[in-house]
Amino acid sequence: MPDIPQVILKPRKAAPFFGRHPWVRNTAIARLVDDPADGAEVDLVSDKGHWIARGLYNSRSRIRVRLYRWTQEPLDEDFWRRQISSALALRQTLGYDDPAGAARLVFSESDGLSGLVVDRFGRHLVVQPTSLGIAQRLDRLVPILVELVHPAGVTLRTDAATARIEGLDLAPRHYWGQPAEDVIFIQEHGIRYGVQLVSGQKTGFYLDQRENRRAAVAWLGGRRVLDVCCYTGAFSLSAAILGGAKEVTGLDSSQAAIAMARRNAELNGVTCARFETAEAFHALQERVEAGQRFGAIILDPPKFARGRRGVDEALRAYHRLNHLAVDLLEPDGILVTCSCSGGVSREDFAAMLFGVAVKSRREIQVLQQRGAAADHPLSVTCPENEYLKCFVCRVK
Ligand code: SAH
Repeated sequence: MPDIPQVILKPRKAAPFFGRHPWVRNTAIARLVDDPADGAEVDLVSDKGHWIARGLYNSRSRIRVRLYRWTQEPLDEDFWRRQISSALALRQTLGYDDPAGAARLVFSESDGLSGLVVDRFGRHLVVQPTSLGIAQRLDRLVPILVELVHPAGVTLRTDAATARIEGLDLAPRHYWGQPAEDVIFIQEHGIRYGVQLVSGQKTGFYLDQRENRRAAVAWLGGRRVLDVCCYTGAFSLSAAILGGAKEVTGLDSSQAAIAMARRNAELNGVTCARFETAEAFHALQERVEAGQRFGAIILDPPKFARGRRGVDEALRAYHRLNHLAVDLLEPDGILVTCSCSGGVSREDFAAMLFGVAVKSRREIQVLQQRGAAADHPLSVTCPENEYLKCFVCRVK
């Protein structure tokens, strides 16, 4: 085997990597032996010369090395196939393999594939590389996916912020097989949704909220529901169809999302849901001033903080949003409140709700604490991947 360039760690920096943490940041690295090219395989070695793991190098990212293998073997076709097969097997076990449904098939570090996200929407795959090493290997990884999943087509998506951070020069495009139609139809819990794989948010649909949408409906029967940041209406339609909500209003600042939410309501013959393009804080404030009341409010805002930076500011924004929602809830109203900011911990989020309870002089009972759906597993060696919190509360 040719010599593989080495990344030598600084003293006392090796423990997390022996513990299988997959991200080697620039600050942990002392020096390089045989300059690796960006995207190349490297060996991670401690300052004492102990071999630790094998990974992929990227000089442009603060995460200099992403680790994949803790045995001295190459990152070859067999290895990638094994990792992908194992990820697929989990989704099968979960019953997330309904051909008309959608699921996250590969979730990056959580599946031992740092930098690779793959979602299935019906017969189409959306592949989203979030690291340079993975992006460079798409011509090897996609054929494995095609062989194991037999999709009709594969679409490539990139997240602009991640692309910048990683130095990815990759345009979203049709990648393999049949091009996806502008709108693809999937179903979740028996409800049909149109999904735009290319122009929609994220990879087209918020798959991480799947089980939370179903769980929340247990408390929504007969209520007037306000779904804030509703995107294409999935919580709203779940509330109306599965939960028997009396009336649902969905709000989102994206006109395209609202247009799709209306189409989705129509597609499912739902007549008790209406959707409005509106800015969340503004729309809630207006309703507070107008003295409106709701039986249940769902808050699923976008990420307010990227990483640990900006956490305090994010918590202030969560506080404001949740306080407005509590003011709009009738006694014993239901608040389904979510945060997808990774930097905001579960404890931070609970403390924020405590603050809201004190300030609004309402008692808040947490009925259930939830996370992302089971096709978004969490690797204990990469706790940074836990991002979604969903609290179902009763506000007295
Ligand atoms: N609840 C949705 C997912 C919501 S994702 C679902 O289950 O599918 C967050 C949404 O917030 C996005 O649709 C985004 O368009 C919207 N958004 C972002 N900023 C907003 C703002 N200031 N006011 C209202 N909506 C906003």
